[in-house]
Amino acid sequence: MFDNSIDAYLVNSPANRRYFTGIDTSAGAVLLTATEKLFFTDFRYENYARNTLRDFNVIIVKPSEFYDTLVRELKRLDARTVGYEELFVTVNDYRQMETALSDFKLEPASKILADKRIVKTQDEIDKIENSQRIAEKALAKIIPMIKPGVTEREVSAELMFEMIRSGADSLAFDNIVSFGENSANPHHHPSDKKLEKNELILIDFGARANGYCSDMTRTFTLGSPNDELKAIHGIVLEAQSYALKHIKAGMTGMEADSLAREYIRANGYGKEFGHSLGHGVGIEIHESPNLSEKSEIVLSPGMVVTVEPGIYINGLGGVRIEDLVVVREDDVLNLTNFNKNLYL
Ligand code: ZN
Ligand code: ZN
Repeated sequence: MFDNSIDAYLVNSPANRRYFTGIDTSAGAVLLTATEKLFFTDFRYENYARNTLRDFNVIIVKPSEFYDTLVRELKRLDARTVGYEELFVTVNDYRQMETALSDFKLEPASKILADKRIVKTQDEIDKIENSQRIAEKALAKIIPMIKPGVTEREVSAELMFEMIRSGADSLAFDNIVSFGENSANPHHHPSDKKLEKNELILIDFGARANGYCSDMTRTFTLGSPNDELKAIHGIVLEAQSYALKHIKAGMTGMEADSLAREYIRANGYGKEFGHSLGHGVGIEIHESPNLSEKSEIVLSPGMVVTVEPGIYINGLGGVRIEDLVVVREDDVLNLTNFNKNLYL
């Protein structure tokens, strides 16, 4: 197993269930041991699970009988230590689990499980890249409708429609579409604000297809924003391109973050870059590894991360430029293929 001190992993979170089974289900639990993989679900998924999870022992169980069945299986498998997802289960879940599994030793295993997902296979990278292509195609399609007078909400709605129409199963996360001053709020929610000619337009969005997410941000304008915002766009773009040029396997998340952060700091905007440089992307939109000021994780080939420096000035506006890349031995492979100019 992944860690010798744990005999069986009880996986409840949708993201980890998706990872270890390859299928999306709204309910169920996975039990992983060195010799067997079990999938507990209810009758709604019986045929689907039996037909798709050939290497699993599929057990159909009523929710009320789950723990009795689990205990029986753990005993049969001779498991003593059970890893559980401490970052996912609620206090209530944990109390139930603790009572039901009183004959077993419970060990937190969220990190061990997250680490299994951190390096992507080529198949996973292909899926992420496909989601990225869908997102780019949708953005290209809606650019012509971005004109003075259009609202953030309208742009967001069109973008969502085009992503779904281009093959996305859902959005990777709620679209961020912000105009003018609103772009100073990194996680702005699209409103009825209308675009004015000289405002910045920040769009941060992603598609989810075949279970995998994409993530990108572009900041641009139709007119002529004030000089400081123009300068900031140039600084963010430089910081990003420097980071993209230098990130590679072997460096820590912190070192990657500092590539962009030092440049932004040197230009006087250290405080205005209030978030980390990037995050892992996969089944979840935010997963390991983090490229942040505190991240000691060492990057390895096959990790998929965003590179997204930003500068935000309250009352004025903000710029973020985000690409999605695969870490390689000596460089990164950029999965994003979309113009980054201030004037698209
Ligand atoms: Zn993003
Ligand atoms: Zn991101």
